[in-house]
Amino acid sequence: MSLPPGLSDSHTHTPLCKHATGHPREYAQAALDAGLAGLCFTDHIPMPAWYDAPWRMRLDQLAEYVDTVREVQAEFAGRLDVRLGLEADFHPGTERFVERILAEHDWDYVIGSVHYLGAWGFDNPEFAAEYDERDLGQLYRHYGALVEGAARTGLFDSIGHLDLPKKFGHRAPDDSALLRALDVVAGLGLALDFNTAGWRKPVAEAYPSPQLTREATTRGIPFVLGSDAHAPGEVGFRFGDALAQVTAAGGRVVTFAGRQARG
Ligand SMILES: [Zn+2]
Ligand SMILES: [Zn+2]
Repeated sequence: MSLPPGLSDSHTHTPLCKHATGHPREYAQAALDAGLAGLCFTDHIPMPAWYDAPWRMRLDQLAEYVDTVREVQAEFAGRLDVRLGLEADFHPGTERFVERILAEHDWDYVIGSVHYLGAWGFDNPEFAAEYDERDLGQLYRHYGALVEGAARTGLFDSIGHLDLPKKFGHRAPDDSALLRALDVVAGLGLALDFNTAGWRKPVAEAYPSPQLTREATTRGIPFVLGSDAHAPGEVGFRFGDALAQVTAAGGRVVTFAGRQARG
């Protein structure tokens, strides 16, 4: 793979979330091996105990997460720009909890992701049969409204995997709900996670789709490249294709440091 210099992978996990493998040091080495200049860890944020507990670190593990990323940062200093971030969840009612965590450390980058429609973890393969019970137009309207809500909290730098409900192939009947969400995202100055994990899923398409990549670009929204790696071997996954899709749309790529976008 020959990537242009200077790229960063800004969406990666660690085993603290209980569904990823490999020491963070191995993710950093994989980033170097892939020819990347930077790597931002964005593991799943701790949430209130009642929310999605099997899929994230506990609150009392947050310090360990920060310390581990800081160690890897020091170890790779001068070779790889390692940054500290979080993939936070937007779930109505948990905003104050998330806000407190974001105030506790000097994060470089915080992604805001919607993983639940009510009590349904809609991106979990175990619960994918639920799609058959739903009207897809209504589903995407509900999801799009939650994305707008996430943007409006002011807590996040970007929106994670914009068109995630398509993961198992359940595409939106039309893009209207997500276009409304993009209007809000643009108006509030957030970025979009350009997430290559979709190319590893049944839908076989990155988040966002080529069409939504163009729509975001039209609105002036920048993209933050991320593999959503849950294993070292996934770091930088298909970044050449990601860059091609963003470039074809005329879009621009940024990274975040100290919660500020850098071109
Ligand atoms: Zn995960
Ligand atoms: Zn996610």
